[in-house]
Amino acid sequence: MDELFKGVADPVRREILSLLRLQPLNVNQINEHFGDISRQAVSKHLQLLEESGWIKIYQAGRERYGYLNKTAFYSLKEWLDAYLQWGEQSVENDHGVFLEWTAYEKGAPLTHPVMLQAMLSKDKEFDGLFYNAVRTTGIFCKPSCSANPRPDNVTFYLTREEALKNGYRACKRCKP
Ligand SMILES: [Zn+2]
Repeated sequence: MDELFKGVADPVRREILSLLRLQPLNVNQINEHFGDISRQAVSKHLQLLEESGWIKIYQAGRERYGYLNKTAFYSLKEWLDAYLQWGEQSVENDHGVFLEWTAYEKGAPLTHPVMLQAMLSKDKEFDGLFYNAVRTTGIFCKPSCSANPRPDNVTFYLTREEALKNGYRACKRCKP
């Protein structure tokens, strides 16, 4: 995986990949495309792409053709899918914590990880859905409060009343 990322960590190499998306090209054709980059530099990029698994080289006599190696793309996709499928899993799985793009549906369970991330990201969508009370200060806040309490010191409550009942005072900044 480190190799794969190293392979695409350069714009020239990503451009080579995008050229090869259309068809295999020999080294000369790739060189022609990069008029302003030395042959040597292009060769080096090709070598790195090959070593990192993004392309394969086909050699016929002195001619070398580069073509895309599907496996690399699928490996990266697999890595990404672990994150991108979170939203779907969350329906059954107590709502996952990948919240940046997953709108929270009212009524879905507010698990600890969900509330923690909502608090860390100061997500206004969660204001009114739960309160974070800080044990060290005795104050409770809305998730979007500008204060940054240490997560270890925070207890979550689903209602204001519950926070008050447990001896917490409302924050003067966010007025929960
Ligand atoms: Zn506050």
